[in-house]
Amino acid sequence: MNMDSLIRDMKGVGEKTEKLLAKLGIETVGDLIEYYPRNYDVCEPPVKADMLVPGKKQALTSVLYQKPELLSLKKLQIVTLKLGSPGGLSVTLKWFNMPYIRSSLNVGEKYVFRGLVAEKKGQLVMEQPEIMTFEDYTQKLDHMQPIYPLTAGVTNHLLIKLVSQALAQLDLSKEFLPDQVRRKYHLAEYNFAVSQIHFPENKENMLRARQRLVFDEFYLFALAVRCLKEKHEVTANLYKMSDDSEGTVCESFRKSLAYPLTNAQMRTWQEIRKDMASDKVMNRLIQGDVGSGKTVIAQLALLKICDAGYQGCLMAPTEVLAKQHFESFMRDFEHVVLSDGRKPAVTLLTGSMTAKEKREAYARIKNHETDIIIGTHAVIQEKVDYGSLGLVITDEQHRFGVRQREFLSEKGESPHVMVMSATPIPRTLAVILYGDLDISVIDELPAKRLPIKNCAVGTSYRRTAWHFIEQQVRMGHQAYIICPMVEESELMEAQNVVDYTAQLRQAMPEDIVIEYLHGRQKAKEKNEIMERFAGNEIQVLVSTTVVEVGVNVPNATVMMIEDAQRFGLAQLHQLRGRVGRGDAQSYCIFINTSDQPEASDRLEVLVKSNDGFYIAGEDLKMRGPGDLFGLRQSGLMEFKIGDLFNDMDILKEAKDAADQTTEPEFYYKNGGQNTPLAQKLDSYMRRTLESLIL
Ligand code: ADP
Ligand code: MG
Repeated sequence: MNMDSLIRDMKGVGEKTEKLLAKLGIETVGDLIEYYPRNYDVCEPPVKADMLVPGKKQALTSVLYQKPELLSLKKLQIVTLKLGSPGGLSVTLKWFNMPYIRSSLNVGEKYVFRGLVAEKKGQLVMEQPEIMTFEDYTQKLDHMQPIYPLTAGVTNHLLIKLVSQALAQLDLSKEFLPDQVRRKYHLAEYNFAVSQIHFPENKENMLRARQRLVFDEFYLFALAVRCLKEKHEVTANLYKMSDDSEGTVCESFRKSLAYPLTNAQMRTWQEIRKDMASDKVMNRLIQGDVGSGKTVIAQLALLKICDAGYQGCLMAPTEVLAKQHFESFMRDFEHVVLSDGRKPAVTLLTGSMTAKEKREAYARIKNHETDIIIGTHAVIQEKVDYGSLGLVITDEQHRFGVRQREFLSEKGESPHVMVMSATPIPRTLAVILYGDLDISVIDELPAKRLPIKNCAVGTSYRRTAWHFIEQQVRMGHQAYIICPMVEESELMEAQNVVDYTAQLRQAMPEDIVIEYLHGRQKAKEKNEIMERFAGNEIQVLVSTTVVEVGVNVPNATVMMIEDAQRFGLAQLHQLRGRVGRGDAQSYCIFINTSDQPEASDRLEVLVKSNDGFYIAGEDLKMRGPGDLFGLRQSGLMEFKIGDLFNDMDILKEAKDAADQTTEPEFYYKNGGQNTPLAQKLDSYMRRTLESLIL
């Protein structure tokens, strides 16, 4: 057995278990080993019956003075055992359908019973407690049992069994980290780390194990980024064009805009032009807060590439956003004429288009009858064959994996690559995470914008908020109302949105058009609603977070978010970014349905500031270092064990170590001589980088 062995080849894993484990992302033994516990259960010193507290998981110790009783009901057999001191507290232990327990317990022996203490009808009970002899338990004292994240059908017990089996059979003696790196950063050995992260002997070992594995994860990531960068650096610019701007199509497009570009936009545009004119192919990240105006930069770059006779492609994470970009490009380019006298041809390509529509689009793309292709990840599907792709742009990069970005750039023949992201991460971090890219920051909002006015209020304010929305509609504006995501069930989520809409229609005058949008609707239906909302045929849009990314309807001035405390701060900031995109004053209303003080503290951060960087900083302060395995928020910047913010120090060390790692350890780029590190990196690039969303 090795890390690449399939999980289905393990003992005790049948087809059904295989499928369930796949849901947790476990397909190989390596995946299993890297499926880290989310917490640990510690065996605490056992107590007597009068120390039991309802609601706590406790270990009760007692000598057995009599055999338990067996109660047989129709289909149920219950073993019960009453323990306690005469006159003191007593507790009843119960086991269901486990009659053999009776004979396995010996009178006169000392046992430990461990389970959740509950109070039922004034009596203390413990149902289905674990049973251990006092001696066995003493051995396990302070041992930590892993608690894994689960899914229906996969028990903690099963994972413990599989992980122990894998640990016993794997040869973990092969250390892949270069010796000097391990010594320099005082890291535990690999075999120690993997076994102690799953079954730590004590907390100290667990922390040492964790430190090593976090280091590994960041180190491999940094090396992988370096591989990508080295690949990019030797790639020549096949689409070289002049950097002049005067008198060009781009220049006249820029002058035709209803507004001047901000200084930050101008600077970014210059950087892009310079890249395109240089000897090396462009790989640039455009980072800018919501509403900073990234789209127009994409438009300029796309115009430049198609004026030079090549094709450009823009990939968006959702159908709604792709469609919206398509519409606005058609509108904005209406009067644009390329140097050869043609108008730029724009084509939409999304998953929901009919087979016939897609075929037509493929043909236009292949024959270079279209200059600009806008779409969802349909644009990187195998069937799409580009005539002469010179530039690819991904919008809202944080919704795509590192791999998807690579895929797109592999589509043409080394096209220029531009990625746009609103993730507000500090520059130092961006430099590490996007180490293979050059970075432009749009750190300025258009001048005429009025800052959004915010408030966080309780549910009693809901009616007032609706009334306020009505007034805004009467002034010609529009509003969004967001109902929260229901993680377990898309159906329930849709139901919420539909019910809310019905209520709102009751409460508002009939001439105000209210519609809803949720994940279960067909793409076509969603697009249609977005189009009507963009055209102000709908005044109030009740929606799930499907509108979160990138949607641009500048006439909307109110964003009302129900159950706001249930969202992450970054996500709330994204949602709020849907308003305040035009000249009119905009408002954001956070409805807080919880009475927890932490909830209002968190929302207060957003009320106080509209600055994404400040919010990201506060967010990480609030998460605090207490949360050992990090808060898994909205899938953003999620490593398997490392936490970008709380493990920042390890991240920096790992980055330094990666920068200093030289031959002979780092063979990967030479086609992989078989050093352990090269092998590990190869497997990392194949397995993990693919799913890492940054
Ligand atoms: P984001 O960076 O969030 O993608 P968009 O590109 O969608 O932002 O721009 C948001 C809105 O701001 C759009 O309506 C756009 O037309 C407008 N806009 C962009 N740049 C400027 C500017 N320099 N001055 C005024 N408005 C601008
Ligand atoms: Mg955008």
